[in-house]
Amino acid sequence: MKYIGAHVSASGGVFNACINANVIGAKAFALFTKNQRQWKVKDLESKVIDKWFLELEKTGIQTKHILPHDSYLINLGHPIIENREKSFHAFVDEVQRCDILTLDRLNFHPGSHLRKISEEECLDNIAQTLNRVIDATPTSKVKLVIENTAGQGSNMGYKFEHLAHIISKVDDKSRMGVCIDTCHMFTAGYDIRTKEEYDKTWEEFSSVVGFEYLMGMHINDSKPELGSRVDRHDSLGEGKIGWDSFKYLMNDDRMDDIPLILETINEDIWGQEIQALYSFVEKA
Ligand SMILES: [Zn+2]
Ligand SMILES: [Zn+2]
Repeated sequence: MKYIGAHVSASGGVFNACINANVIGAKAFALFTKNQRQWKVKDLESKVIDKWFLELEKTGIQTKHILPHDSYLINLGHPIIENREKSFHAFVDEVQRCDILTLDRLNFHPGSHLRKISEEECLDNIAQTLNRVIDATPTSKVKLVIENTAGQGSNMGYKFEHLAHIISKVDDKSRMGVCIDTCHMFTAGYDIRTKEEYDKTWEEFSSVVGFEYLMGMHINDSKPELGSRVDRHDSLGEGKIGWDSFKYLMNDDRMDDIPLILETINEDIWGQEIQALYSFVEKA
């Protein structure tokens, strides 16, 4: 079974994400559990938490099909220790918010070296910070889900090897996962447009990272070309990837039972995009 949804707005309270997911006929969704552009926010209030569980139940969506995204400000690989420390604390807070909402996975961007340290040092910083996050949240059920990136600017995570490098240096691998964004994968240079390329790319993912780590996907078309290292999403079928690769995805059982999340640019057609994706699923 495929579980498809979108990154919906949680503005006004996290429970609104459930309501917004329902409106578009989603069977999965993503959200920010706090304002993604602010460092400090107040704790989740008990009345907000109560409403979350009430609205979540109405959706019928299982928590394993919800993929919260962390704040854009967090950089776990920051070259300056004070800034990395700030990100560490903010990320621990994100994990705790997920636990309160009984969410079991947290999607994050690995981090950026800001041209001050090498790529390898940055990856090592990220892994070391993740080890500290795991140590600071020993009873948490939240898996830390690294997203692949387009490799824009100095962002790490544009090669499968980066994801594998981070995981290899995290002690408790049972707390780790990855999320593959199709736009990022494509603009990072991984082609998925023909069946042949699609199979080759996922074969590479399988041998470098492994499907046992795949905890979610972001389903986006891409405005920029293959390998451009530019992160700009497009509506499905409108960009440089095209419908075929999404058809392959919908009939690939390696993507069963994980949240498949649209982050496409026109939220007015999310409902239609979800339906289009489900229409590709070939009945056995
Ligand atoms: Zn992301
Ligand atoms: Zn994404």
